[in-house]
Amino acid sequence: MISMLQIAGLVKESIVDGPGFRFVVFTQGCKHHCPGCHNPHTHSFEGGTSVSVDSLLEQILKNPLLDGITLSGGEPFEQAGVCAELAAKVHASGLNVMTYTGYTVEVIQNSSREGWRSLLGETDILVDGRFELDKKNLLLKFKGSENQRIIDVKKTLRDERVVLAEI
Ligand code: SF4
Repeated sequence: MISMLQIAGLVKESIVDGPGFRFVVFTQGCKHHCPGCHNPHTHSFEGGTSVSVDSLLEQILKNPLLDGITLSGGEPFEQAGVCAELAAKVHASGLNVMTYTGYTVEVIQNSSREGWRSLLGETDILVDGRFELDKKNLLLKFKGSENQRIIDVKKTLRDERVVLAEI
């Protein structure tokens, strides 16, 4: 079966969505509706374009300069299974995976929703938490508001406590 991901858009080369040179996938659909969200067009679950995991992978592997991919949104965890499949293939090719989510890592870890554990397990760096307008800070690197955390997922799972990434 061909795995399809509903996306709002792609940025094929970015230096602002995580460390290094990254291919960014903006997933379509988000339930969080954070006031002040920069990507309101990604909220609807009806919009966007459907693309296959394999066609995304082909585009990613075409660029030898990439350090990794960033799954952004929208909310990648609303399509966790397909995102996890893409992330696993990206890992197999030697690249890293950063995922943005409006959910906290604690909520994800305690959830039994399909694909959530897989996507977390295939994520190297997780930026978690909703965008909170009253905590907005334009000086923050790779995140929009003070409440959000940039998490080293491997160390967090290993140590059973939230470990922030050193980036
Ligand atoms: S989680 Fe992200 S995409 Fe969703 S409403 Fe909040 S800021 Fe916007």
